[in-house]
Amino acid sequence: MSDNSANFSLTPVARLESDYPDKFGIPRQPGLASAARGRLVMLPPFDDPLALRGLEGFSHLWLTFIFHQTSERWSPLVRPPRLGGNAKIGVFASRSTHRPNRLGLSLVELVAVHTRPEVYLELRGHDLVDDTPVVDIKPYLPWADTRPDARAGFAPTAPACYPVEFSADAEAQLAERRDRDSLRKLIEQVLAQDPRPAYRKGQESRRYGVRLRDLDVRFQAIEDPRHGLVMRVFEL
Ligand code: SAM
Repeated sequence: MSDNSANFSLTPVARLESDYPDKFGIPRQPGLASAARGRLVMLPPFDDPLALRGLEGFSHLWLTFIFHQTSERWSPLVRPPRLGGNAKIGVFASRSTHRPNRLGLSLVELVAVHTRPEVYLELRGHDLVDDTPVVDIKPYLPWADTRPDARAGFAPTAPACYPVEFSADAEAQLAERRDRDSLRKLIEQVLAQDPRPAYRKGQESRRYGVRLRDLDVRFQAIEDPRHGLVMRVFEL
């Protein structure tokens, strides 16, 4: 007999080591920064390689995770940044982190499955902050999970992208890095989303820092007469 009043507890099966040390700057959905790397380290007793057998045949995975850096308070209405941060919609009509049970869902690319000596999944394109607890992993099935003609409410298309340019200093710092190619891509993809808070978007002179990998990437949004808004990186 089912008991509708039952409470359920969830145990993390893995934790993500992420290119994003902080929440600020993380794109608002997976896939927007395909260069974002992650190591999903399986936790005991789920670090049994048998539990991952066959996973290497899939290119993408669904991760169900806990928004562990969001407070447990939730309200029926939220203000999606996509609507400028003022208009309110129902929490269940949103992908907001401020929701009951704090469960997140992300589609990520599976690059490799490692079982020795550590059991972990190498991922790309996620939107999760470092140390996020993951409570389930499932393979993505394109024939069942893709609906190209679906309606997408107030978010019908991917968000706008802005050009990103690097100062001479930033270029020189980048050139010294061993991970320069993937790092450049990550910086470009993250800043192209314009991570500034919605309420600050008028204040072009302000400088911001986004932490990516081991760096604090300093940037400014500049109104360029020819190209419109441009994200300029001036220091890494
Ligand atoms: N794709 C997921 C979903 O739809 O459930 C997440 C969408 S949510 C709008 C994306 C934002 O969650 C990111 O921009 C990041 O700032 C935030 N975030 C990522 N990991 C988090 C965590 N562990 N705790 C709290 N916030 C997190």
